[in-house]
Amino acid sequence: MENRIIKEIKTGYYLIPLDEPLVDAEHGSQANFEIITATIILEDGSEGTGYTYTGGYGGQAILGMIEQDLIPALIGKDATAVENLNEDITVRVNYVGRGGISSFAVAAIDIALWDLRCKAAKLPLWKFLGGKSNEVECYYGGIDLGYSQEKLLDNIKKQMAKGHNAFKIKLGKKELQEDIDRTAAVRKLIGPSMKLMVDANASWDVQTAVRASAEFKKLNILWLEEPIEARDYEGYAELNRRCEVPIAMGENLHSLLQHRYAMQLGRIDFPEPDASNLGGITGWLRVANLAKAFNLPVCTHGMQELHVSLLAAIPHAGFMEIHCFPIDRYTKRLVEVKNGIATAPDTIGIGVEFDWEKLAPYNAKK
Ligand SMILES: [Mg+2]
Repeated sequence: MENRIIKEIKTGYYLIPLDEPLVDAEHGSQANFEIITATIILEDGSEGTGYTYTGGYGGQAILGMIEQDLIPALIGKDATAVENLNEDITVRVNYVGRGGISSFAVAAIDIALWDLRCKAAKLPLWKFLGGKSNEVECYYGGIDLGYSQEKLLDNIKKQMAKGHNAFKIKLGKKELQEDIDRTAAVRKLIGPSMKLMVDANASWDVQTAVRASAEFKKLNILWLEEPIEARDYEGYAELNRRCEVPIAMGENLHSLLQHRYAMQLGRIDFPEPDASNLGGITGWLRVANLAKAFNLPVCTHGMQELHVSLLAAIPHAGFMEIHCFPIDRYTKRLVEVKNGIATAPDTIGIGVEFDWEKLAPYNAKK
């Protein structure tokens, strides 16, 4: 048995400008995103890299927690004890970070541990987890609330030419009618049968969502995402009783318990866990198993370069979001979509290998 003891953990922090500012109803205008990396080096010389990301804020706090609070608890530990190490470091910072920053910090470490685990097994992540096909159904998730209707439609056309056949657009205009009109225009553009979803980024109340859902039903909308605050589980239960289209959410849930409440109390239809903000692959798999118990398909939010391997691994995969933060552009493999399908990489490990030279210009570590 090789020596799997953790010898050292190196971190990275990158602030990367988006090609253009992106607007949604919750975050306003976003000009940058952050990537925080953790590379774990074992005594036997093997290395694994994990990461998390943000919409431009909070990354320094995540980095600080990793460096000051998590790394000291990991040096000298056996890296094969992935779930136990995840638990130990989660408990360590729960008091100040429960279901918040700690879920991002733990994610970066956990994903690095999974990279080491898959490399030791000499398998790509999706095969390690028991996947039988590398194909994942996906959709283009636009952050397009700031686009004029003309630009919105042009962008959808551009994405269709790139191989997409399912789309999600943002809601949250001042007048509900404008949201409905924009959605109807996209539906007209793509025809009656392609999948179309809408996302209000927690900017509505229950009444607005119920009213809008009647219109969305006519437009054959697959789901209405996050119409209200993510942790208002009673509100979601009411949406379940009164809305005429299915409800999706999950990007703002950062623990297993929160996801349980969303499914059990809120009775959502499409859970959307994101490994980057949920304690990593360990946290994501727990939510995926929970969804199985509720007979729900698992969808994802963000980090498609990693989620493609997780969705490929499970029998109850829903749809993967191709998010507008192009993390994959800074790795050795782009996530490409053909006829709405992305494929999981056969690279041994988690399948996300950063191109450090491409990231270097965005190094913002103090
Ligand atoms: Mg969303």
